[in-house]
Amino acid sequence: MNKVHSVYLHIPFCQKRCSYCDFNTFSGLSHLIPAYIHQLRREISYYGNKFAKDLAVKTIFFGGGTPSLLDATLFNSLMDELSDNFRILDNAEISLEANPGTVTLEYLQNLLEIGFNRISFGIQTSNPVYLELLGRIHDHYQSIQAIQWAKQAGFTNINLDLIYGLPGQTNDEWKKTLEDSLSLSTQHISLYALGIEENTPLYDWVDKGMVENPDPDLAAEMYELADQLLVENGYACYEISNYYKVDENIDYRCQHNLQYWRNQPYLGLGAGAHGYSNDVRYENVNGIMEYINLQKDTNLLSTLKNPVVKELTKIDTFTAMQETMMVGLRLVSEGVSISEFSKRFSVSPLEIFTKEIEFLIKNHLLEIVDDDIIRLTKNARLVGNQVFLQFVN
Ligand code: SF4
Repeated sequence: MNKVHSVYLHIPFCQKRCSYCDFNTFSGLSHLIPAYIHQLRREISYYGNKFAKDLAVKTIFFGGGTPSLLDATLFNSLMDELSDNFRILDNAEISLEANPGTVTLEYLQNLLEIGFNRISFGIQTSNPVYLELLGRIHDHYQSIQAIQWAKQAGFTNINLDLIYGLPGQTNDEWKKTLEDSLSLSTQHISLYALGIEENTPLYDWVDKGMVENPDPDLAAEMYELADQLLVENGYACYEISNYYKVDENIDYRCQHNLQYWRNQPYLGLGAGAHGYSNDVRYENVNGIMEYINLQKDTNLLSTLKNPVVKELTKIDTFTAMQETMMVGLRLVSEGVSISEFSKRFSVSPLEIFTKEIEFLIKNHLLEIVDDDIIRLTKNARLVGNQVFLQFVN
């Protein structure tokens, strides 16, 4: 029997490219949206048939790009296709990413009616100078409005994405963004340290000295400041960069992302999407036209291999154990359970990674709690990547 999966659907369209963004997304191609959605529906039915329409799905996530550029009617058709092809569990989390500059109250009401129960807004900063530098299409008033509309429409699980470590940003400016964000009283907040990625306008500006290169030490201070403020305001950190409002009746952690961090299976659909299912990791082609054309001429019901998959990697048991440690340690309180790991792989992580775990404990980067939970120490959160690398060959 197949394990319960999550499903990610990539919507690679944006109104305008932000200056820092290196995601697989395109502006100026919105005329391709109908053809893209048509093929996305075909890809859904490909996997539906592959799993004999019996795959249980616990979370669905529309990410991008800017999924909120799609008409609600298109989401309706995608949700119908998903329900026809998968066994969507009753309490499934169904999320979408939205740009505050693209929504209206009516649109959000339609999304809720279609079945979305979680929405994530990329507000990034409340400071107009940095919104301009980042090339965002919205101002902070639109962010406030979008969140008010989402609440008014009936969303009770709302996330905000924030970016820190911006060129020239001071601790005080970051604190103001945090305070402005806290006043919006959402159930979840995600923090991202700005990366200066190659092939972006921001990279060129930094390279040419037009914009200051962000200081990593200052970014670390900003992370600590955010952690302190968020915790003081009733949020708890459950993944290095993710905080949820603590509520004894409702778990506001992002269930979709928890599936990744617990190294559990998910299907990735759409251009540039990644998936992990039946011990295979795969990656789809990136280009929108390529994605459309590769499927257009194929009878998906009779093909064994999904034509849009450009790379397939079989994950052997040892690699799966390494990956389970690397992603699981991102969960700062849940960590990696020794008993769960042993049940899954028939061997204890303490036996397989004896040297690595001993070394990290000795250096105060890992701890074992309740004789079962291996997790990062608080100090290790800022050097998480160095800890995860210990589990790579
Ligand atoms: S809206 Fe998001 S996905 Fe689109 S360009 Fe900006 S950062 Fe990238």
